[in-house]
Amino acid sequence: MHRTKVRVVEDALDANNTIAQANRADFDREHVTVINLMSAPGAGKTTLLERALDGIAEEGTRIGVLEGDVQGSFDADRLAVLNIPVVQLNTDNGFGGECHLDANMVRSALPGVPLPEMDVLIVENVGNLVCPAEFRIGEDARIMVCSVTEGEDKPLKYPLMFRACELVVINKIDLLQYLEFDVDRLEANILQVNPQATVMRTSAKTGEGIDAFRAWLKAQPTRFFEDDDHEHEHGEHTHTHSHGAHSHSHEHADHDHEHAPA
Ligand code: MG
Ligand code: ZN
Repeated sequence: MHRTKVRVVEDALDANNTIAQANRADFDREHVTVINLMSAPGAGKTTLLERALDGIAEEGTRIGVLEGDVQGSFDADRLAVLNIPVVQLNTDNGFGGECHLDANMVRSALPGVPLPEMDVLIVENVGNLVCPAEFRIGEDARIMVCSVTEGEDKPLKYPLMFRACELVVINKIDLLQYLEFDVDRLEANILQVNPQATVMRTSAKTGEGIDAFRAWLKAQPTRFFEDDDHEHEHGEHTHTHSHGAHSHSHEHADHDHEHAPA
């Protein structure tokens, strides 16, 4: 019985990866760099975007947002005033109110996303520290936002999420003065589970650290689409495994991966 259950999960993740690759092909065709933005509920993803994307269009960076929520368009409405393309994707609209986005949900939303108008698409995932890390959506990079109200031990308790991303943003650092919170210990725990992670500290409220975050976002298209005459082959990089924890960089894109079971 246990075996059957595992099999089903593997099949679901295989199906997800197939659709993620179809998304990836669409993003590549339009030369759009896609970022999967993840966090627990209330870590400040939307506020961070409000702050970081304010004025970015005027600076010549073409960024759009696909806003994932179970219900409602509160967050999309907040971002729409920034004069950037924002599309709402609700998981209770045909997807059973799922607590994460998967490749199929993103695919269903793509006809409404004006990819030719953007160089970067940020997909704000549903707030959840567990399953979003399991489902690749065809993204190039993943950001995890954690806040100083969540506890220093979160990376050790939810290692998959922290391992799956390239950038970890520690948000709400303006609150540190009111909390007994060891932010250095949090950062050490992040780096323990993901030594390659870039870690930033921000306050979406005061604006501290936002310049660095914005610079990271603006640098993404040149990372993935350096020159248009070049042939870009990053088709094979979206792998999710039921045993989690892998993230593959683009540099080794054009070959088959063989993963021995862990
Ligand atoms: Mg939000
Ligand atoms: Zn979920």
